[in-house]
Amino acid sequence: MTASAKAVVLVSGGLDSATSLAIANSRGFECHGLSFDYGQRSVAEVAAARRICESLGVAEHLVLKLDLGQIGGSALTDTSIPVPEAPTTGIPVTYVPARNTVFLSLALGWAEVLGASHIFIGVNAVDYSGYPDCRPEFIKAFEAMANLATKAGVEGQVLAIEAPLIDLTKAEIIRRGLELGVDYGLSVSCYNADAEGRACGVCDSCRIRREGFAAAGTDDPTRYS
Ligand code: ZN
Repeated sequence: MTASAKAVVLVSGGLDSATSLAIANSRGFECHGLSFDYGQRSVAEVAAARRICESLGVAEHLVLKLDLGQIGGSALTDTSIPVPEAPTTGIPVTYVPARNTVFLSLALGWAEVLGASHIFIGVNAVDYSGYPDCRPEFIKAFEAMANLATKAGVEGQVLAIEAPLIDLTKAEIIRRGLELGVDYGLSVSCYNADAEGRACGVCDSCRIRREGFAAAGTDDPTRYS
C-alpha cells in the first residue's frame, strides 16, 4: 500500500466507528470521513461524528443528509415506535431497514469519485444487536457487488470493504481504540441520547456499551442524563 492510498470511513458518532477510523489512520490511509444525517432519533450522533473526525484527524469530513424517516419502519427513525428498554428476542425494532446497504452504497459512490481503494465500516458480529447487515457474509457480498457495480471495478481497480471490528468483542474494540488514542468521551452510542449527547442508560446500545467498558476493565466516560 502506498502512503497516499485513500479510504472512505463511515463515522456514525458511536464507539465502533471511532475505533474503525483510528485503525484506518493507523494503517496509513488518507481517511475521508462519511456520516449521515438520516433522520435518526438522536441528533447528537452527527455532532459526535464531527468531534471524532476532528479529534482523530481526517482529510475531510462529509455529512450527507437523507431522510430515512420518510420510509420509517424503525424505532430510530420513527418517533412513534418506542426504543425498547430491555433486550428483546429476534431482530429488534431499532434495526433500520437496509441502513448499512444504503450507507455503503453512498460510500461506494464517493470512493469511486475520490479514487479510494478501501471503505471502512465499524460493524461487529459479536456484541451487537442481531442486525443482519452487520454480518461478515453481508460485507463479503457487498464487496463482490461493489466490484461489479463500478467503473473503477470493471477497469480493474479492486475496491475492498474493510470491517476491522467484525470478530472483536466490545471489550476488545475498546482496548484497541484506547491503544490508538481514541477518546470515547467524544462518542455517543445511545439510541435515545439527548441533544447534548447524554445517554439514557437503559437502551440496548447503552447496555452493550456499559458491559463493554466493564469487561475491558477501564473507566466508562459515557455521560448519562
Ligand atoms: Zn441509551
